[in-house]
Amino acid sequence: MAERRQTSFRERIRRALSNDVGIDLGTVNTLVYVKGRGVVISEPSVVAINQKTGAVVAVGRDAKDMLGRTPTHITAVKPVVEGVISDFEVTEEMISYLLSRAQEGHKKILGPRVVVGVPSGITDVETRAVRDACQNAGASEVHIVEEPIAAAIGMRLPVKDPVGSMVIDIGGGTTDIAVISLSGIVRSKNIRIAGDAFDDNIVSYVRNEFKVLIGHKSAEEVKIAIGSVMQDDEGAEAVVRGRDLVTGLPREVAVTDADIREAIGASIGTIVEGAREVLETTPPEILSDVMHRGVNIAGGGALFRGLPELLEHELRIPIHVPPDPLLAVVRGCAAILDDIDYWQDILLVNEDEISPVS
Ligand code: ADP
Ligand code: MG
Repeated sequence: MAERRQTSFRERIRRALSNDVGIDLGTVNTLVYVKGRGVVISEPSVVAINQKTGAVVAVGRDAKDMLGRTPTHITAVKPVVEGVISDFEVTEEMISYLLSRAQEGHKKILGPRVVVGVPSGITDVETRAVRDACQNAGASEVHIVEEPIAAAIGMRLPVKDPVGSMVIDIGGGTTDIAVISLSGIVRSKNIRIAGDAFDDNIVSYVRNEFKVLIGHKSAEEVKIAIGSVMQDDEGAEAVVRGRDLVTGLPREVAVTDADIREAIGASIGTIVEGAREVLETTPPEILSDVMHRGVNIAGGGALFRGLPELLEHELRIPIHVPPDPLLAVVRGCAAILDDIDYWQDILLVNEDEISPVS
């Protein structure tokens, strides 16, 4: 008891001296939470770099707007591609920018204590790189959590209990499927097909069917505007603009929800198959928990019209969508910051941090 009181006193001092920051380093969106202030940054995971000088020109929304529009010496880079950190230096630049922007006007004496969500299954080297990036950016403590676990915590699932919980996080670059029990991932699968792949599918479909080349941004817009995984009575149509591959001139085409369903059908099938495979290899007791308690979905894909219903139909398990699926991971990071000691056993540890026995 005395020790608890002492910890909480130490904890209070610590909070007075440093900020608590949670970061969801997604393939498409990066979110930053600061304790006491909520989610202060929500921006695309893009960094624009001047190749001549190596300097960062823009980060986030400004950098995304430059994608496909940069002069040759400026490149817009996505540091997290398909769930892996493709460029350590850029990731470090981005984390450094985010930490300083998140604390603007609220800086404290000590560097921030940071909890970062990373794609599940990233290597020890990548985890180390994220840790170093945060430390180089001034963090006083860095804690790393795998995104499906963070999402589960963010959705208030009982991840520490001897009860199976299943999460499907359909993001931009990857779909992360995980079954969690007793603070660990019991079964998981990371599929490199998610929102970005749907956009690619739409670009290819329009090119093949209409002989018009559209950009990824237009594809995403039409996906969100009229896309629906399940057929409904009404049907919807939207106009997209691109370049006619025959004449080379701009052209508009009308795309329907049925076109989009056809374009993304195979990708959706892969996600359903992945979830099925995870269920097939889940131990029976845990499977019974999951069938009883349902599957929770997170990420932007959870907002795709009809996708929860389709998963429910295909997997024959109830599907739950939280009110704000895009925030599940960052909310989980925030919950971990509330009591790092309590969550210690779910955090990732680097091999070189395990203290040698003897
Ligand atoms: P990540 O965690 O990989 O950064 P997010 O969970 O932020 O990804 O999800 C981004 C993806 O979700 C993008 O591909 C985006 O197009 C898609 N998305 C966002 N809102 C919707 C929506 N309403 N309908 C369909 N897809 C959506
Ligand atoms: Mg994500």
